[in-house]
Parts: sequence; structure tokens; C-alpha cells
Amino acid sequence: MKKSGVKIETGPKNRRETTLDLLVIGGGFSGLALAIAVNRAGLKTAVVDHAAPREVLSAGFDGRTCALADTSVRILEALDVWPCMAAAASPINDIRVTDGHSPLFLHYDHREVGDRPFGHVVENLIIRRALYHQLEQCCHATREAPASVESLHFSKDSVMARLDNGRYLRAALAVAADGRRSQTRQSAGIHVSENTYAQTSIVCTIAHERPHRGVAFERFYPTGPFAVLPMVDGSSGVASWPHRSSIVWSECSNLAPRLLALDDVEFTAELGHRLGGTLGSLEVVGGRWSYPLSLLRAENLTGTRLALVGDAAHGIHPIAGQGLNLGLRDVAALAEVIVEAREQGRDIGSGEVLECYARWRRFDVMTMTAVTDGLVRLFSNDVTPLRLAREIGLTAVNQMVPLKRFFMRHAMGMVGDLPKLMRGQAV
Ligand SMILES: Cc1cc2nc3c(=O)[nH]c(=O)nc-3n(C[C@H](O)[C@H](O)[C@H](O)COP(=O)(O)OP(=O)(O)OC[C@H]3O[C@@H](n4cnc5c(N)ncnc54)[C@H](O)[C@@H]3O)c2cc1C
Repeated sequence: MKKSGVKIETGPKNRRETTLDLLVIGGGFSGLALAIAVNRAGLKTAVVDHAAPREVLSAGFDGRTCALADTSVRILEALDVWPCMAAAASPINDIRVTDGHSPLFLHYDHREVGDRPFGHVVENLIIRRALYHQLEQCCHATREAPASVESLHFSKDSVMARLDNGRYLRAALAVAADGRRSQTRQSAGIHVSENTYAQTSIVCTIAHERPHRGVAFERFYPTGPFAVLPMVDGSSGVASWPHRSSIVWSECSNLAPRLLALDDVEFTAELGHRLGGTLGSLEVVGGRWSYPLSLLRAENLTGTRLALVGDAAHGIHPIAGQGLNLGLRDVAALAEVIVEAREQGRDIGSGEVLECYARWRRFDVMTMTAVTDGLVRLFSNDVTPLRLAREIGLTAVNQMVPLKRFFMRHAMGMVGDLPKLMRGQAV
């Protein structure tokens, strides 16, 4: 389908206005996925992002991978984004959780909940490229990047944005998808609560001697969780071994800079100590990245003609690899609510439509933020009674199959009234 572009009108005071249905501020994963999701329903959308595409699509921009839960994979399948990344996605078949170097562990096997893997691990760069590619195919969506919103005016009937490139965008609904430090959320006067974890995640990729066999594992240390995520094998010649895994190593924020400053040999030795020899010899491939961690919750998921999605609404610790999964679930619910409203001839930015979205998402967001926060607090300490309780807890849960199944289904996003996209259907 050919791009139709968006309508340009002459508004008050002869300024050139573009009239839209949806104005998405923030072209990260959540914002791009939303624009793609509503395209089939013919909603005219603009995605504004202040970062230059060339910068965000370069290899050095983001060294992370994402553990995408199976319901997120279904969303990406329904959006036709998955085919662009499937070859680079490594299935997660098993998950092993241990408390430090304790021999006791909790083992999740995907066969206990169905035929499909728990999810897949994909490099952020590849997810971003796939979303950009798919947005290009959308005939009702445009991208304004790099561009910033200079002013945003919410009124009873519409929302008006003035961009720093001189354009005016008027829409029925604005969506804040501009991440944790969302200025859109701030402009709308929506408060947030934020608590720091005093932990920083160090992220890198390793090549290793033994295959990971699709096992993701996480070790809880008093200074923070250490996660190893299976990746697809790398191209030969880049490293000594083809097998690759992604490391998300959360540490005390005052120790992280020293670890990041270690030379390659020392850094690899520290990694090897935490890995405990499971993957054989290893080497670090590429750079190291770091992310300070905090828990951030917006007071409301909506405002006047505004909906919040993704990290703009909730920023959580990566302990369970759930941040983007939660954001994609926001996207799935919001897309369905507004497309349904449009089909019924209702105003997509009205209070009652937005309340449907907020009601649908409240419980999941509250549960996931509370669970991840609880896990960080329970495991990031070395208090002896708590350590013993943790070990007993891990062993007990390991033997209680129904409880384990409940946890697995929750982490996979399979609980509650699922939006169509999460069931792999288009909206
Ligand atoms: C170490 C680490 C590991 C993680 N691992 C996982 C994992 O395994 N699984 C998982 O599900 N999640 C994981 N996450 C969480 C995940 O990365 C985030 O939840 C996700 O990136 C949020 O996407 P988003 O699009 O909502 O926000 P962002 O990725 O923050 O995107 C926001 C976008 O808005 C743009 N923007 C910002 N301000 C403005 C503005 N004023 N005007 C215009 N544009 C603006 C930015 O340029 C950006 O493109 C991890 C997070 C960390 C820190």
C-alpha cells in the first residue's frame, strides 16, 4: 500500500496544521508498536521522537537484549514485526533461579505450561530495526524524527502539539511513550513516585565454550541479581566460540563504576566468578553498557486526551525481564480500546474510552511492579534468616507444580482478560 500521508490544513492564524487521530510522543518500542497496531484500522498517526533514527539504529546505541515473553512474541507476530527478527531470536526453554552460589535452585521447564517456549531473547537493536521497518510499511503513519514537542496544549476537543521543526499537530488523542523521564506526562501534570534501588545494571554480550541449550539463568546476590540470557549463535570469526549469551549484571551503584573500569581480563574474570563455570571458558564481545535502576510509577495511566504507555507509565527493575513486556501489553490494550471506539463512531480521546484502557491495565501494572519490587527487596540482602527462608522457599516452590505453573503463566503474560493482540490476532 502506498503511503497516503496525513492531511495538512490551514488552521487559525494561517498556520499549517496536520490533523491526526493519534499523536504518539516517543518512538521507542512502545510508541512504534502502538502506531503499527492501529494502522490497519486506518487511524492517522504521527510518531514524534527527539532522537535521530541513524543514532538509535546504530550498533553502539543500546547493547541490551530483551527477554520477550511468549505473549509479546504473539503481539509482534500479529503486527507482522516478528518475521523480521525471528531468525535472530533465541528461544527460552528453561529458566533456572539460584540464590548466590547455593546448590538449591528453582527450575522452570516450558513444557509444564505448553508447547511454545517461555519467550525469546532478541537484541534491542534488532527489535528496533524490525519495528522501524514495519512502520515504514504503514500507510496511515508518519514519523517526525528528530523532532521535539515544544508545546502541548490539551483541550476538551483535541490536543495540539507544536514541534521544534515548526509543524503543528492536532490529534484526538496523545500518547506518552517517551520513556521514564516523560516530558509529556509532566506537561499533563501527572505525578510519579520514584524509588532508587541504588543498583546499576551492567550489560554486555559474552561468547562461550559450551552451548546454553536455551536455558536462561539468574543468580541472586546480595548486591543484585545476575542474569544470563541465551542468544542465537554469533557469526564465526568474531569470537573464539560461536555460542553467545547476554549478561544483565545488577550491582551496587557505588561498585558498578569500578567494575566498568576494569580491563578486559579482570572484567572477564569477575564475570567468570559469578557464572561459576556453567558455560565453560568465555570472552566479552563488544562493549559494556550501564543503566541505573529505580522503580517509577505514574499516579494515573491517563489524563485529558492523554494515555501513558510503556516506561512513561511504569519503570521497573529488570530482575524478571518484564519492562518491555508490560509496555507491549499496554499497547495491546490501548490499541484495542481505541480501534473499537473508532469502529463504534465514538471519540477515541474521550474520558470514557481512556477509562476503559486504565481499568484494563491497572491490575497487571500494579501486580508486576509489586512483584518485581518485592523480589529485589527479598533477594538483595544477606540477612541470614531471610537467606534461609529464600532457600526453603525456592526448594518448596520447585516442588509445587501448580504454584510454579501459576508463576510461569504470570511471567508469560497469560493471566487475565487478554487483548486480541496478545492472542496473536490483529485489532
Ligand atoms: C538493563 C535492562 C535490561 C532490560 N531487560 C528487559 C528484558 O529482558 N525484557 C523486558 O521486557 N524489558 C527489559 N527491560 C526494560 C525495557 O528496556 C524497557 O521497558 C523498554 O525499553 C521501554 O520502552 P519504551 O518504548 O516504553 O521507552 P523507551 O525505550 O525509553 O523509549 C522512549 C522513546 O521516547 C523518546 N523520547 C524521550 N523523550 C522524548 C521527548 N521529549 N520527545 C520526543 N521523544 C522522546 C526516546 O528517544 C525513545 O525513543 C530492561 C531494562 C534495562 C534497563
